[in-house]
Amino acid sequence: MSGKNIAILGSTGSIGKNALRVIDALGPQYQIVALSAHSSVEQLAEQVRRYKPQFVAITNPDYVHRLRKLVSDLDVEILSGADSLIKIAGLEEVDIVLSAVVGAAGLPSILAAAQNGKRLAIANKEPLVIAGELLTKAAKENGSTILPVDSEHSAICQAMQSGRREEVSKIILTASGGPFRKATAEDLQNVTLEQALSHPVWDMGPKITIDSATMMNKAFEVIEAHWLFDMPVEKIEVLIHPESIVHSLVEFVVGSVIAQLGEPDMCLPIQYALTYPARVAGINKRLRLEEIGKLTFERPNLETFRALALGYEVARTGGTAAVVFNAANEAAVQEFLAGRIKFVDIVELIEHCLNKHDVKTDVSLEELLEADAWARKEVRNKLQQYARA
Ligand code: NDP
Ligand code: MG
Repeated sequence: MSGKNIAILGSTGSIGKNALRVIDALGPQYQIVALSAHSSVEQLAEQVRRYKPQFVAITNPDYVHRLRKLVSDLDVEILSGADSLIKIAGLEEVDIVLSAVVGAAGLPSILAAAQNGKRLAIANKEPLVIAGELLTKAAKENGSTILPVDSEHSAICQAMQSGRREEVSKIILTASGGPFRKATAEDLQNVTLEQALSHPVWDMGPKITIDSATMMNKAFEVIEAHWLFDMPVEKIEVLIHPESIVHSLVEFVVGSVIAQLGEPDMCLPIQYALTYPARVAGINKRLRLEEIGKLTFERPNLETFRALALGYEVARTGGTAAVVFNAANEAAVQEFLAGRIKFVDIVELIEHCLNKHDVKTDVSLEELLEADAWARKEVRNKLQQYARA
């Protein structure tokens, strides 16, 4: 790959900030040409001052005046609104789009990057979950390479290189198990927001931290792997691995299992997606197995973590089921983060929406977005019923 001009969509988030550290260390041939945030305007302005991109986007238009003021002395083109990310993804100046936005909001810009043949480093898994077919097809047709930033999928991508695609017999995704790994379904009834936000291994943004606690995150990752690696869902397994050192494994038909190991540090998968197929020295912490001593594995408890069982059902159903699964989760997690519902209500609301939804297959982008809006509205309706009861 020749061009190394990068746009980071969602540069103020957990992945975005780690990406800036990685790019700092990679040296001057990697240039930042565009940055974006939703409403963290002060932080975005500081990033613009430091990295001097040609373009900056603030997706929440309420903050554009403030941004203009903060960077008025700098030579940068300011864009605003949700569509600004679509524009950035199509810029001739951009070679690599690193999508680190959270939620389905990242879909239009990822699709635009794929349609414009950009290299796509995707951390933002929700668009792959809801529109995996559309995105992988657009990427294929337009010569866009999709590289996963999600640590499990980066591990699979690396392990896959030791054999041919048709020699793979299954993928094994590892999961830390989150803060409630040892909990029973009964224990989950009374967990607090603070407990759900205390992830034992990874330091991530609030939405994915809650998704890890419910194990929705792993359900999403099964669907993500299905699309990224064109693998039937029956050949994708989940294994709990609390140490989070083995980031995932690939089993080949001969029976050999190839894994990728490393410290739990997102800098490695972020960097690999940017430099692929090259591997260069980076800032990630080195693995010392003798300090870790022992690695353990266990089967996930599908009774406690109902979300994971639902994820498999959704993956098998296909069509708009995954859109509803994701949108209901986004709406419910927002309610939980705002302190308005209980932890267990999240999966209950998702299941309610899935049961009520008439699944459509072979759908257009518009139909996907309709199903997304329907599920968010259904969560609101259900909550009004709870409030009246
Ligand atoms: P954060 O919440 O930390 O950051 C999200 C970023 O997206 C911020 O820059 C935020 O801007 C921006 N943003 C928020 N809402 C919108 C919107 N509606 N439109 C455009 N931009 C928006 O999330 P993470 O960095 O934790 O996660 C990003 C993605 O990567 C998620 O999809 C997550 O599942 C995935 N991921 C994250 C991992 C991690 O270690 N954090 C690991 C693997 C995957 P602002 O700051 O202004 O709100
Ligand atoms: Mg992951």
